[in-house]
Amino acid sequence: MREANQLVGKTLGELAKHVKPGISTLQLDKVAEEFIRDNGAVPAFLGYGGFPNSICTSVNEQVVHGIPSSKAILKEGDIVSIDCGTVLNGFVGDSAYTFCVGEVADSVKQLLKVTKDALYLGIKAALDGRRLGDVSNAVQSYCESHNYSVVRELVGHGIGRKMHEEPEVPNYGRRGCGPLLKSGMCICIEPMINMGSKNVVFEKDGWTVRTKDRKCSAHFEHCIAIRPDGPQILSSFDYIKEVLDSNAI
Ligand code: MG
Ligand code: MG
Repeated sequence: MREANQLVGKTLGELAKHVKPGISTLQLDKVAEEFIRDNGAVPAFLGYGGFPNSICTSVNEQVVHGIPSSKAILKEGDIVSIDCGTVLNGFVGDSAYTFCVGEVADSVKQLLKVTKDALYLGIKAALDGRRLGDVSNAVQSYCESHNYSVVRELVGHGIGRKMHEEPEVPNYGRRGCGPLLKSGMCICIEPMINMGSKNVVFEKDGWTVRTKDRKCSAHFEHCIAIRPDGPQILSSFDYIKEVLDSNAI
């Protein structure tokens, strides 16, 4: 699980070098697919439920599941959420990061920071013997305290030999409720947080989800293992950090 997830982290790090004004999301997809295959793995998303590409690229008001396109050219001030998955030695890795394209408005940077911080608060709550609602509530309460809203229609998930396994991992919920967390479980925690209202629209392409009010949305995801001594993050943003300068989100 760790190897598959580390490769996702490395792929996101490779993509971080290419996220710049003027590149299309389809070009990013090609970079990701080549990198994953060069490392002996298979892109987990390609063909999943009929998805046509190796990564999901969701720009600005797009929440998740955006389809890479030669027509989607990134421009200064955009944000792009890149979700990536690999299959390596029979196990699946899955992680996502929202990148700034050039200089981005402070209000949007704040959305990204709060969403990423919420992810780590959720991870901190993923303790052996506690309930999944503790994770969900940690994410929700932090984001709502910053006046952002939590998407309800899409959730995190268990993961292993398949990308989506039980249980569902919502980004909203009540403390002390939901499935028991046990050592050995692997789950993906993935806050999808909107600047405006929580409502989303499913586009006619069958995949892209966007905010109804067309305000920005952010998405960060880690795959973690629950261990007796606490949560262990299997994916990694370290490869991204190596590429981005220190003030970047
Ligand atoms: Mg993902
Ligand atoms: Mg996921």
